[in-house]
Amino acid sequence: MTDTSTISGEARPRVMVIFAHPDDAEFLCSGTVARYARSGYRVQYVLATSGDKGSNDPDATPEQLVATREAEQQTAAKVLGIEEVTFLRHKDGEVEVSIPFRREIAQVIRVGRPDVVLTFDPWQRYQIHPDHRAIGQTTLDAVAAARDRLYYPEQLTNGLTEHRVHNVYFFATDAPNYYVDITDTIEQKIEALLCHASQIGSRDIGEFVRARARVAGAEIGVEYAEAFHYLPMMRPPELLRHPNW
Ligand SMILES: [Zn+2]
Repeated sequence: MTDTSTISGEARPRVMVIFAHPDDAEFLCSGTVARYARSGYRVQYVLATSGDKGSNDPDATPEQLVATREAEQQTAAKVLGIEEVTFLRHKDGEVEVSIPFRREIAQVIRVGRPDVVLTFDPWQRYQIHPDHRAIGQTTLDAVAAARDRLYYPEQLTNGLTEHRVHNVYFFATDAPNYYVDITDTIEQKIEALLCHASQIGSRDIGEFVRARARVAGAEIGVEYAEAFHYLPMMRPPELLRHPNW
């Protein structure tokens, strides 16, 4: 990657991962996230919900689930080297594509100023979870809005300015066109997933993760990989495509 941001005198490039529930990012892109962190990128997680419906335990309450799952997410983030975790605390299962939500994500992008955004592919077919569908769509719409000053101009006070994201990578995609070798970070990915104890239960998550990563790895001739659909937001894309790792 040739471009770096220079916000607040900080020359480190930034990655923002925008997703729906604690553990989404660990399942779908955390091997890549760990590589970004190791390479010196500043990584921020943004969660639309705190997973307050994620339990079959008849005694679990939404409030307990939020506390448990936010703590699990913070622990997983530490394992991966993520520096900031932002919880937007929408209700689990009720995230919708809307102008207010787009405005909210645009503000998060303008404050966090990422060079790279990772999120759900809004065009994945037959995605059952409404939050996953809504996050992908809204994030892309917010990336487009955040770069133009006439969108939500009321946000542009106290030094906050419009912001242009350079690259978007969609996970959970039907149309992968970009693979990241995660052979060196797959153990971190598994360790981060195990932090989500309330969700993992007694499943052998290590073997599940390795099996899936092996399939993606075969596409580029490495042991383990994660698959994305890459969407360049700036031209020429060949100058921006590959992180320098
Ligand atoms: Zn999810």
